[in-house]
Amino acid sequence: MRPTNEASASEPSARFDFSRARRALLNWFKTNGRAFPWRDDPAPYRVWISEIMLQQTTTQTALGYFERFLERFPDVNALASASEEETLKYWEGLGYYRRARALRQAAIQIVERFQARFPSEYDDVLSLPGVGRYAAGAILSFGFDKRFPILEANTTRLHARLLALRSETSASASQKLLWRFAEDWLPKDTSRRPKGLYRDINGALTDLGRLVCAPREPRCGACPLAQFCESERLNLQNVVPVLKPKPEPIRRVDAAIVVFRADLDRADNVGEVEPRPETPLSADADVLLLRRPKGALWAGLWDFPRFDVLDPQAEELRDFSSDASLAERLQWFLEEEVGANPKDYRVGKALTTVRHAVTRYRVTLRVCQLADAKLRLPARSERPLLDLVEEPKRAAPRRTAPEQADVSTPQAEELRWVPIASLPDFPLSSPARRVAKYVAEKALKIFLPIK
Ligand code: SF4
Repeated sequence: MRPTNEASASEPSARFDFSRARRALLNWFKTNGRAFPWRDDPAPYRVWISEIMLQQTTTQTALGYFERFLERFPDVNALASASEEETLKYWEGLGYYRRARALRQAAIQIVERFQARFPSEYDDVLSLPGVGRYAAGAILSFGFDKRFPILEANTTRLHARLLALRSETSASASQKLLWRFAEDWLPKDTSRRPKGLYRDINGALTDLGRLVCAPREPRCGACPLAQFCESERLNLQNVVPVLKPKPEPIRRVDAAIVVFRADLDRADNVGEVEPRPETPLSADADVLLLRRPKGALWAGLWDFPRFDVLDPQAEELRDFSSDASLAERLQWFLEEEVGANPKDYRVGKALTTVRHAVTRYRVTLRVCQLADAKLRLPARSERPLLDLVEEPKRAAPRRTAPEQADVSTPQAEELRWVPIASLPDFPLSSPARRVAKYVAEKALKIFLPIK
């Protein structure tokens, strides 16, 4: 069913001269429109992949991934038959990994429900995992040249300024008005419609919002719609759009533990914060990776065991600037929360610090090492003692070889010893990728504690 918005004649949309504005817009688009691979060949499958990639990702970043993804998954069959793990690998670094999982799920549905042909009806497209109203409109207008509006960040800003909309753009009345306005740009009379008209209008509106009607300092002097723009007339460009205030970021400190598997003899100083002396790590040593379970952040990706060091609501951030304080905290965690015997492990020095952002959180990730001395960490494919992180549920021990492993997102953590040299092959969370890079580059300079 086509989405509809009710609008009354008193709405600003009803007073807008769409016919003249459209001509000005399309003339501008002819010489200023951006070239993208998904525009050069707007097959619905390609448009769909690009639209999902572009959610939460800049065009520049998406461009680097698009061709590589399409090369590996050239059509819906290829994507439907790929493992989730491989799909995530090709998505690694783009973030918001649920998009990649949803793409694969949607591909499976397209194969099963639509005989591998991309659906062209609104309800069918909207029923696919990961496709909302915007993406459905984009796929149908860009991929099929059908009369469906789109409303994303660029067009929201552009339309709000054209209308001098002074209420918050995310308010439901504003959304209704903006969607209606976006739809009214698309002419209903299709008898003499040039080929690609709906595709071009939506593309032109997006480009104009991005290139000219920028968030700060819009270039009104170069805007083909200046004469139609209420914000330009009333000098409200810096007031409109009215956005919902962003929530304050929350700082938190996490610890990631790089657990090295090394054949260390038991020594008297195990459990000490800074045992001495040390031994260099072998370049082909194993590290422990954990596959994050369903429902968790970065579900399906591999990561180093990590935990939050502080209650994010705590009033004071504890200073972990010295290695000893971090090691002390880790030791406390292992003993108190994991129940590990201090005689069974050795805590090494802090390795590095990685800073990253996740949703509202600004995370300082202290990376520390743990040498497998007497601690009976698992051999490959066995469950470990050291299930460090948050999910209390435990799966049965995995005994399948990696190549036979179930590739869907696990219900509980899955742990595996991985040679340092194989880390590039695993789809990792972006902070874990940075930690892995550090470990790979510095392996020979890392010293494990041993007597
Ligand atoms: S005139 Fe200025 S504010 Fe109005 S649409 Fe154009 S760039 Fe945006």
